[in-house]
Amino acid sequence: MKWYPWLNIIHSKILNSYRKNRGHHALLLNAKWDNGEDALIYAIVRWLSCSHPRETRHCNVCYNCKLMNIGHYPDYYPINPDNNTQTIGVDIIRACINAIHHHSYRSQVKIIFIKYVEHLTDQSINVLLKTLDEPPINTYFFFKTRDYMKIPLTFLSRCMKWSITPPKESLGLQWLKQQQEGRVDDKSAQCALRLCNGAPIEAEAMFKLGMWKQRLELCKSIYCTIINKDFLKLVPFLNTCRKNTYLYWFITILVDALKWKQGINKRFIINLDQIELITIIADYWNVSSLSLQLQQWLSLLCYFQKFTSVDRELLLTYRLLNWKQDIVESCFHVWSI
Ligand SMILES: [Zn+2]
Repeated sequence: MKWYPWLNIIHSKILNSYRKNRGHHALLLNAKWDNGEDALIYAIVRWLSCSHPRETRHCNVCYNCKLMNIGHYPDYYPINPDNNTQTIGVDIIRACINAIHHHSYRSQVKIIFIKYVEHLTDQSINVLLKTLDEPPINTYFFFKTRDYMKIPLTFLSRCMKWSITPPKESLGLQWLKQQQEGRVDDKSAQCALRLCNGAPIEAEAMFKLGMWKQRLELCKSIYCTIINKDFLKLVPFLNTCRKNTYLYWFITILVDALKWKQGINKRFIINLDQIELITIIADYWNVSSLSLQLQQWLSLLCYFQKFTSVDRELLLTYRLLNWKQDIVESCFHVWSI
């Protein structure tokens, strides 16, 4: 699995705790964006499962390492949310707990890795809590979450929590440019990084998956919208993605316009490649209007994140028309609380 340089310190801290026999049997890694948690957990899993681990790496020659290399280590249980229900049901958790209690294979170390624990059902959590209190010998749990606020306190209190934060912007930028091998200019790389809250893996995905081009089209469309005063042209754009990526990008432009209007230094701007668009918006509305309209857009984003079965097109049309006439509605704010 690909390794990321900003994980070195946390990796060595966690391994140190295991080397000193002070390692916790349940680790919870929290990261709002992808900062390489899978790679970190996999490296620790490899070290723990290895029969002759070196200081920071598995040996890669013992029987357990060979089984891991071909994906056949029998006591490693990676668990993902169900594709259809987006939950982790109690049956799969029970089967896993049963296996680690009764069917340990030749290996001594048993490892469970649950991705996105916020998707565990209440029943699944109850079953897990009992095992976390009294885990079978040589059993390790690894959990990952994008939002630990959604995890019950009873569960959190049984885990050792680590927050995986993005690297410094300079390190992230250096890594991103290496991956792009000259295909992206400095300004675009820095802007993509800022749009992804500093997470280089996510910024790289923007270029790889064509999202960067989509964002540029959105910016062009916002520009035409403001110039032509035809606000409804934005509806199909903002309605494109169920994950609200377009709406999020659009909101970052408004945030930048507000910063610009308030005279905040250019180096704090997110959309560094869209200064012309940002100044046009900043010239069009005053600070108080921009601030209130921004709050409305943020409320709408929260609302869309919370409720998926809503008439997005209708609500976007309503919001855009109100934005055009500088009207502040109260309903989104109430709904999104
Ligand atoms: Zn080994």
